[in-house]
Amino acid sequence: MGRRSIVNLTFFSFTVTYLALQLQPIYTIGFDPQIIQESTTPVPSLQARPGAPFRIALFADLHFGENAWSDWGPRQDFNSIRVMSSVLDAETPDFVVYLGDVITANNIPIENATLYWDQAISPTRSRGIPWASVFGNHDDAPFVWPLEWFCASGIPQLWCPLANSSDSGEAACSFKGTSRLGLMKKEVERNVLSYSRSGPNDLWPSVSNYVLQVVSSDNPESPLVYLYFLDSGGGSYPEVISTAQAEWFKRKAEEINPDSRVPELIFWHIPSKAYKSVAPFFIYKPCVGSINKEWVAAQETESGIMNILVKRPSVKAVFVGHNHGLDWCCPYGKLWLCFARHTGYGGYGNWERGARILEITKEPFSIKSWIRMEDGKVHSEVTLS
Ligand SMILES: [Zn+2]
Repeated sequence: MGRRSIVNLTFFSFTVTYLALQLQPIYTIGFDPQIIQESTTPVPSLQARPGAPFRIALFADLHFGENAWSDWGPRQDFNSIRVMSSVLDAETPDFVVYLGDVITANNIPIENATLYWDQAISPTRSRGIPWASVFGNHDDAPFVWPLEWFCASGIPQLWCPLANSSDSGEAACSFKGTSRLGLMKKEVERNVLSYSRSGPNDLWPSVSNYVLQVVSSDNPESPLVYLYFLDSGGGSYPEVISTAQAEWFKRKAEEINPDSRVPELIFWHIPSKAYKSVAPFFIYKPCVGSINKEWVAAQETESGIMNILVKRPSVKAVFVGHNHGLDWCCPYGKLWLCFARHTGYGGYGNWERGARILEITKEPFSIKSWIRMEDGKVHSEVTLS
């Protein structure tokens, strides 16, 4: 943020026009994410291909929409699309998880941030691959005015779609940002391939809380693994997984997997405090990874989720993003705590970009993971179950 102060309005206008054109082929399905009834809704299913393991790519911290008023920002988004495209083409995953900080909302000076969200999911959508997303701390963060706009060059003439010639200032271009519910509603409405959900209303203000199941092609009644998504907050409210969310997880897991027979994987954005307790000084066995350049930036408090997770033998691993300079997995009791790998050119840090891959095999059952880099290299392979 704030890395280039050159205001290039021509490029900005071009980018916005380009984004608008990209949004033309949008389809709608009759699904309202806000009226999900918890106990009566069957768990949505993803089916593995016959005879093949189920492969998931994690895209973490893409940070689309930074410095859109300069030529630097749109170039980063273009680079991020290139990273995702090369990972998708090399790994041909069955599913993609967008692990939060999809956009940098505090940097987006237009009212509707879904334009950028849509760009971030476009490489996955254009390849016909289904996906799910969770929110990070930047996705609904309020707009922060860049200091450079108050220098000689002044505030750039911005694209304010609702601007009325008789309005000025706040009335014309208020940069309100887009709420979690707004972002999720648009993603789900516009994309038949999106498996994202707005979770139960009583978990508000957290939104991205839901569960999916992966089933094998020969036995769709018998889940291979459950994938749980939780909203770890940040942006418009504190960075936390609440007691209510922890209890929702417990209730849901006991309801659909009472004997812990089916393995469970957990995805959220901001590491819990437990990550601090396992953080290695140097990465060595049993931890596996390649970069360890930061302290763990954990959630503000711990409200019970980790206690519940460690007590369930079926929970195999938790996956988070948030720390762009960490990509390790370390054991925590019987489960694994893993970072993804910084995928986007947006956001801080210049470590090479890549994506964590998960592979779930039915017989014999195993969960493997590795990191696929933008340049095609693969490293940090680990068996998680
Ligand atoms: Zn980030």
